[in-house]
Amino acid sequence: MQLIFLGPPGAGKGTQAKIFLERAGIVQISTGDILREAVGKGTDLGKQAKSFMDKGELVPDSVVIGIIEQRIQEPDCKKGFVLDGFPRTIEQAKALDGILAKLGIQMDHVVNFEVPDEELVKRLLGRAAQEGRSDDNPESIKNRLQVFKDKTQPLISYYEEKKILRHIVGTGSTTEIADKVKAVVGA
Ligand code: AMP
Repeated sequence: MQLIFLGPPGAGKGTQAKIFLERAGIVQISTGDILREAVGKGTDLGKQAKSFMDKGELVPDSVVIGIIEQRIQEPDCKKGFVLDGFPRTIEQAKALDGILAKLGIQMDHVVNFEVPDEELVKRLLGRAAQEGRSDDNPESIKNRLQVFKDKTQPLISYYEEKKILRHIVGTGSTTEIADKVKAVVGA
């Protein structure tokens, strides 16, 4: 099964992708995690991505598209994967369509996590205190929410037209949200 978890920063996509992995053995592919690892290791990719990430801007499409194209062809993705934080722009979504067509696979569902802005800010500030992510500061959080509205929200209609969009309200306990995800994807 191939899934996309779509939603603003702090919507719980990563947490739910990890639960999905434990339950169904379907790998989580988080472009944010891959980029953070590259920044941590100081690779060329990391050096290229860091300034965008710290400001809460998107890393250029060509960079993240290249990452995804490679990653989804690795053997552990054969059984399926959850894309967490990709695509984030229409250009990325179109590139993904091309990659999937080439590989002869399809997206089954796009799960859209809806969470009110006030709740997102509260969660992200909480995560900043716990995990110390350098982009979980008030300035970057504000920018990331705006970037989501400008660049990523248009994907909702993009996938609605393809009839694979499922909505869930991403509030409540982690288990409650996991049950909602299970209900809409049927797994
Ligand atoms: P995330 O962990 O998904 O919130 O991503 C953290 C940061 O990584 C984002 O604010 C972007 O700077 C960058 N990033 C992650 N995924 C993407 C993507 N699909 N396109 C562009 N930038 C991304």
